Amino acid sequence: MLNLAQRVGSIKPSATIAVATKAAELKSKGLDVINFGPGEPDYNTPEHIKDAGIEAIRKNFTRYTPSSGIPELRSAICKKLQEDNGITYDPSQIVVSSGAKHALYNAVMAVCDPGDEMILPYPCWVSYQYIVELAAGKPVYVETLEKDGFRIDFDALKEKITPKTKAILINSPNNPTGCVYTREDLQAIAELAVKHQFFIISDEIYEKLIYDRAKHFSPASFSREVKDLTITINGVSKSYAMTGWRIGYAAANSRIAKAMGDIQSHATSNVNSIAQKAAIAALTGSQEPVDAMIEAFQERRNVMAEGINAIPLMSCRVPRGAFYIMGNISRVLGKKIDGRVIENSQVFAEVLLEKARVAVTAGSAFGPEGVEELDSFVRMSYATGMDDIREGLRRMGEFLSKV
Ligand code: PMP
Ligand code: GLU
Repeated sequence: MLNLAQRVGSIKPSATIAVATKAAELKSKGLDVINFGPGEPDYNTPEHIKDAGIEAIRKNFTRYTPSSGIPELRSAICKKLQEDNGITYDPSQIVVSSGAKHALYNAVMAVCDPGDEMILPYPCWVSYQYIVELAAGKPVYVETLEKDGFRIDFDALKEKITPKTKAILINSPNNPTGCVYTREDLQAIAELAVKHQFFIISDEIYEKLIYDRAKHFSPASFSREVKDLTITINGVSKSYAMTGWRIGYAAANSRIAKAMGDIQSHATSNVNSIAQKAAIAALTGSQEPVDAMIEAFQERRNVMAEGINAIPLMSCRVPRGAFYIMGNISRVLGKKIDGRVIENSQVFAEVLLEKARVAVTAGSAFGPEGVEELDSFVRMSYATGMDDIREGLRRMGEFLSKV
């Protein structure tokens, strides 16, 4: 049999998508599953955004567009980056891609040579490792700890910097930890990037989902030098409940933006023309639906965190951003539930789904393989209705009472 490419060897399917798919499959079979798996808002795309998409179809806006996106959308993104983040970009420095995931992929493909070291503070989102590996880069992991609120330990980070360091991938607000980096945290990273000359790929997809008056900062806004090294990634998926429309974007200096645009021009060409029109409506229209969603998420977070901490064998920190909580299950590991030894977070997630019909994502998915600490956690998404949150917590409490 002919061999496939070596790059396929190390790749595993996205664990977050796998949990979401499994939960949806069980639901379609009529099973009553509470889904704390997927990271996507349960809200519908706001009406005015949908209308813009429908109008685009009616007006036959259904042909190829410039590969990096239509000028009107790239201008709207520049305006957003200026107003929300204090960063000035020219529309030619924006590349609109099929989701922030694709924007990240383009960014890594544009800067990472085989063997380049890409620093990943973890727990981190499941796709970072594979995006880096597909570019033949080497993920270099820096652990962040629950006791530090999952903020970066700068001594640990400094130790990982070598002449081969090409970039750091940061994500604040963070998936899966919910950590929001402070201005000082980001400035310290930026200083290191300038000193040692590496890129910052700043994934800001959860920028709007921030609570307790925490503030979001974009490293590219700090100085001209830092901006030149930074690729800012964002999109409309999470903030505007538009996960299926597939609109993300990257902003960077002209050299990098051109490289990302050229890569995309040979891979996917432009993003769906209709979705581009809808994204303009999202960015330029009323922000009221976003504000309402943020308020609801904050309330859900409170109920979720309180509920987890009320379960005798579980605990969590109260995160300040995104819509995930890392539930600490370390006290359950090695114990038996319904005859099954809970050896690790994956087994916990499997048995919980099987016995209590609650879907969560194993902590081990969010970092390098074989790291014991990650097995202390399961990621629970609270991007779901309040009734489901309460019922899910009740089921988890009952499940853990069987330990
Ligand atoms: N970055 C992070 C940290 C995410 O959690 C996600 C969610 N899928 C993405 C990027 C990608 O978002 P999109 O749906 O826009 O591709
Ligand atoms: N980002 C979301 C999550 O972490 C969506 C799934 C994915 O793309 O990984 O659940």
